Amino acid sequence: MRLLLFGPPGAGKGTQARKLVDRYDLTQIATGNIIRAAMKNETPVGLEAKSYVEKGELVPDAVVRKLAEGAIADEDYDDFILDGYPRTLQQATWLTTFLTEHDAPLNAVLSLEVPDEEIVDRLSKRRVHAETGENYHLDVNPPPDEVDDDLIIQRPDDKPETVRNRLQVYRDQTEPLKTYYKERDLLVPVNGTGTPSDVHARITEAVEAHT
Ligand code: AMP
Repeated sequence: MRLLLFGPPGAGKGTQARKLVDRYDLTQIATGNIIRAAMKNETPVGLEAKSYVEKGELVPDAVVRKLAEGAIADEDYDDFILDGYPRTLQQATWLTTFLTEHDAPLNAVLSLEVPDEEIVDRLSKRRVHAETGENYHLDVNPPPDEVDDDLIIQRPDDKPETVRNRLQVYRDQTEPLKTYYKERDLLVPVNGTGTPSDVHARITEAVEAHT
């Protein structure tokens, strides 16, 4: 099964991707996570990406493409869920060509629909476990008591000024991909509001109708 999870920052892509991984035994390919790991390890890619990520801008296509290409090839072009990739028309076009060449078309592009006000609220209250990468929300899904407070951090790009830029970048560069996938009959809008389990139930229904 080859799925793409699409949506603005804070729509719940990471949370939902993990649930789908458990349910369907897929591998999550999240370019944001790959980039953050590269930044932490100060690899050449990480050093190149850092200034873009910190400003809430997109990392150049050529850099992200290499990361995505390697990760997809590692999965034998099968049983993966892309999360946070593609984010530009150029990335999407490249992905289509790459998957077509390997006779591995996407089954569906699940588009999480969440109103703007809720996105800003979710991002400002998002906290992340520094070691496991687990996501929390201060009100809805707070970190459990046994987790060391010092390990619960706010992503630097979740600060309000950066969030505004990320949302603008999403509107300008990423949202147009909805039309791209709609034209290819792959776009499946899913209501992304409510609890993570509500959204997961809607997504699995959509997945099962399209695979
Ligand atoms: P995310 O964790 O998906 O919100 O990604 C965090 C940051 O990594 C983004 O704000 C971008 O700076 C960068 N990034 C992740 N995926 C991509 C991509 N497909 N294209 C360009 N930049 C990306």
